[in-house]
Amino acid sequence: MPESTSISYRGRLAPSPTGLLHLGHARTFWIASQRCCERGGTLVFRNEDLDPQRCRPEFVQALIEDLHWLGISWTEGPDCGGPFGPYTQSERRIHYLQAWQQLRDRGVIYPCTCSRKDVAQSATAPNDADDEPRYPGKCRPSRDSRSDSLSGCRAEAKRGALAGMNWRFRVPDGEEICFEDLHLGHQRIVAGKDFGDFIVWRKDHVPAYQLAVVIDDAAMRITEVVRGADLLKSTARQILLFQALALSIPKYYHCDLVRDEAGLRLAKRHDSLSIRKLRSLGWTPEQVRG
Ligand code: GLU
Repeated sequence: MPESTSISYRGRLAPSPTGLLHLGHARTFWIASQRCCERGGTLVFRNEDLDPQRCRPEFVQALIEDLHWLGISWTEGPDCGGPFGPYTQSERRIHYLQAWQQLRDRGVIYPCTCSRKDVAQSATAPNDADDEPRYPGKCRPSRDSRSDSLSGCRAEAKRGALAGMNWRFRVPDGEEICFEDLHLGHQRIVAGKDFGDFIVWRKDHVPAYQLAVVIDDAAMRITEVVRGADLLKSTARQILLFQALALSIPKYYHCDLVRDEAGLRLAKRHDSLSIRKLRSLGWTPEQVRG
């Protein structure tokens, strides 16, 4: 069946309400909504509000208003319900907890006491500005003999309490994660080289983005993820989690990043380019989309 006539397309908008919608994310969301619309699909709005330190409920309302103003609409979300809700991540902790338990029982995650500062200080490779420093492996359980090591890792993980520690996914060193990106073409990212063991559960008892997004994309039957190219390595991490949890992997479309005249990536701190600001300056939705 040609891609354009697929009837089962399910896409999503997955903003984190940490600030006002800015031009970079608005462009990604516009592409996501267009791709969904062209394929006669269903668009899901998911509120990724897991980080209590950074997310604010007032930004959710502002995001919804700005997206509607831009001409983007969805049929499943916290504001309109739907069959795969709730669509607010802070209300879905039970699902993430179950996944954490499965990963722990399979021996693929381990508790880690390193602080963010420890990791930043001991990271050996030069840091990719879009990505976190590679974890140097201080708390990674050793694997001397294959069978002992796996059961040792499981036993150790089972003893660890969930709270008070970070839990990391042990990446298969040297394994290539390859996928065909629908915009950027063939991608090849090497575990243990391009990224290291990553956090799936934070010591402040918050499920990490990588875990939550995989659980939700699977539970909400998302068939295509449209996101910025700054998340390419996160996509590779998530593919490992989909595989570890035996969940089906969506297709990916990574958008080019919007840059300013100096070539710098637009980030949320460029408040001058928030959609609110542009609206107040009299921009029309057509001008913003263009
Ligand atoms: N919530 C994430 C963000 O706003 C992106 C989610 C995703 O595309 O997976 O940066």
